[in-house]
Amino acid sequence: MTKALPITLVIFISGLLLMNCYGKKVEIDWVYPDGNHKALIMSYDDGLDDDIALAQLFDRYGIIGTFHLNSGLLDTRAIWDQSKPNESMGTYLSKDTLLDVFKNHEIAVHGTYHKALVGLSDEEILEEINVDIENLTILSGRKISSMAYAFGSTNDHVAEVIRTTTLSNARTVKSSYNFDLPENYYLWNPTCHDSEALEYLEAYLSLDSPNLSLFYVWGHSWELRDTLRNQNILKFCNEIGDRDDIWYTGAGAFADYHASLKALEISTKQMTNPEGNGVVYYREKDQLKSLHPGQRLIL
Ligand SMILES: [Zn+2]
Repeated sequence: MTKALPITLVIFISGLLLMNCYGKKVEIDWVYPDGNHKALIMSYDDGLDDDIALAQLFDRYGIIGTFHLNSGLLDTRAIWDQSKPNESMGTYLSKDTLLDVFKNHEIAVHGTYHKALVGLSDEEILEEINVDIENLTILSGRKISSMAYAFGSTNDHVAEVIRTTTLSNARTVKSSYNFDLPENYYLWNPTCHDSEALEYLEAYLSLDSPNLSLFYVWGHSWELRDTLRNQNILKFCNEIGDRDDIWYTGAGAFADYHASLKALEISTKQMTNPEGNGVVYYREKDQLKSLHPGQRLIL
């Protein structure tokens, strides 16, 4: 993956190169909350009970998954071809097991009934998504922040409708094949599907950059019934998990942190973390430092 630094990243980094009062450039070494520059998101769709084994696999390696569920289908059999009611893809997760299965993972939206959103009216889009948010909030008792588009069905307009909900981010199925942070969190392109993740593994493990980066993988746990695919995800987790140079996080926590970085008020002489923002972290002479809401850093 040798390619020029994307323009969005260049703009972001340039924004962090500040001039202090002596006209000297001050570079802030921004890091994720655990002090790292690298992060991993594993994002899985549909909520079939194959998620149970995958969540357990992630648990073994300290990896955090973001699991996108269709709340209207929980506790039912997965009949995907209505003309063949006897052919089931398996069973959707049971509502009363969610908190146990996803104890260490993020619960997220995939639409109440897995509808393709392109072609629906704005009201229908909001019904499909807001009911899912409500159901999952009640079932989990958690704040629900993330979504993945069912069938990958989205466009600029659908994304703007989703922006009006309480969600902070929505994932597409379009691979970026890079490790950049997204420009539009409502059309968030992952790095790649999990069937291709091994091809990018070495590039990410060996990446040694002072810039924030993200390896964002998506897939379906039911695809991992295939023996080879299962072996591959085991290998992937075994190699990328339990490392001290990667922040393992859900999509919601990641989007929140990046939003906090972007909300900093920066001038030539000082940088302020506004009230109500999240804590942000940076490194100074190998020490992890933080700037809390309301705090100011003189440059
Ligand atoms: Zn799906």
